[in-house]
Amino acid sequence: MGSFQSSTTDDVACAIDAAATAFQSWRRTSVGDRQRHIAAFLSLLKESREEIARIVTLENGKTIRESRAEVDSALVEGSYHLQQAPNFFDTASRKSTRDLTTWVRLEPVGVVGIISPWNFPMNVMCRKTLPALLTGNTVVFKPATFTPWSGIFMAGLFERAGLPAGVFNCVTGLGSSIGNAIIDDERVRALSFTGSTAVGKTIQARAAAHLTRTQLELGGKNALIVMDDADLPKALDAAVVAGFSNAGQWCTSTSRVLLQRGIAASFLTSLVSRANAMVVGDGVNESTDMGPVAGAKQYDDVSAAIRRAIDEGAQLAAGGESMPVPDDGYFLRPTVLTNVTPNMHAFREEIFGPVLAVCEFTTLDEALDLANNSMYGLSSAIYTTNVATAKRYVESIEAGLAHVNVHTGYKEPSLPFGGVKQSGAGLPENSETGLEFFVDRKAVYERLA
Ligand code: NAP
Ligand code: MG
Repeated sequence: MGSFQSSTTDDVACAIDAAATAFQSWRRTSVGDRQRHIAAFLSLLKESREEIARIVTLENGKTIRESRAEVDSALVEGSYHLQQAPNFFDTASRKSTRDLTTWVRLEPVGVVGIISPWNFPMNVMCRKTLPALLTGNTVVFKPATFTPWSGIFMAGLFERAGLPAGVFNCVTGLGSSIGNAIIDDERVRALSFTGSTAVGKTIQARAAAHLTRTQLELGGKNALIVMDDADLPKALDAAVVAGFSNAGQWCTSTSRVLLQRGIAASFLTSLVSRANAMVVGDGVNESTDMGPVAGAKQYDDVSAAIRRAIDEGAQLAAGGESMPVPDDGYFLRPTVLTNVTPNMHAFREEIFGPVLAVCEFTTLDEALDLANNSMYGLSSAIYTTNVATAKRYVESIEAGLAHVNVHTGYKEPSLPFGGVKQSGAGLPENSETGLEFFVDRKAVYERLA
């Protein structure tokens, strides 16, 4: 793909210096000024849609259609934040009693660190960076080591959009050195991180040294529940789309499919034939249904997880090594494992690949217990035509996202995006909380006459 620099910890210090200096003037700009910069950025992003989509596909492996969808999602979310920013600042309420006026002044926190994963190399950084900039903060961003090209391309768009020097800064390199250098600098007042739960925990512990505020969007083991009364073709689409898009590497991918016994056998037959019909290949071909997983480590980890599931007693209903894949990349078949039980790794651990673990249940209570039997709580879905069942699910599911007859990966920018339990911590992204994370609230008491 190319050669990309690896920043040093001195580069990180320089980037934070630049961000701290730029903050002194950027914080004083009006919301309208900042909106103009972000609008310029979004229109450049729109013009560059095909170019950045191609980079994401080459670097990450997802199909070109999935990469375009990633860019489109960044544009939709970006416009949402752009429009929300003035309303958000308007919420500061002013009250006067006799001689005392009180109000709340929203202020940017300062320099913020943004650390992003490789699975959505441009959208995740946008979802964090745009709210941070719109609220008057300056940013030091580190892309995943695996996807520096996407990160550097996005940094170039901010530069072309005419942001003042130092407002947005990009450093590259390993999380363990460059990421930590960002976290350890006490001038960085907030950290927004998306990645694995294991790394999220180390980041929160490290950030505690300076009481740095964190927003952590982490892993998931998202369950799709299919009831006997469900619209089965739609439920099947949900399993295939959210199970195998991006080769199962969405944080909100469906990874457990819980089937009520009445429909289990016929649903499985259809699921297996849909999985086996998918065209796996080079993501740049418009006709490819599923690209490779993102790299060698991902390939080895997912393959090992499939082998382990079989060793532990699960059955391979589709995928694994039962069908050929192109031999010039990290290709895996869409995989369906049946007879999975809660004690198995395949039930508990985020595999982050195109693997569906299937279990059966008899009652709704059992389904909810199975779904909630996880350290994670990011996304979830139920397919049912029964309103009471849907209501029970919405009330009982332990997840940040609850979908009724909608797949686990669906989201809209006006709703909070984040997980419960070990899927996340801090304020969710998107919605008003996406902006709220990046501000301090100053209580003002004024006696001016
Ligand atoms: P990861 O290994 O946790 O890495 C994420 C980012 O953190 C990368 O930039 C990484 O740098 C950096 N990093 C690694 N170790 C670090 C450390 N000790 N200190 C500071 N930074 C460090 O995650 P990933 O493998 O890129 O992405 C997959 C994971 O992300 C999955 O668990 C997935 O569920 C999760 N995810 C969650 C969401 C959500 O919104 N909830 C969205 C997308 C993905 P390097 O690249 O150098 O390792
Ligand atoms: Mg990783």
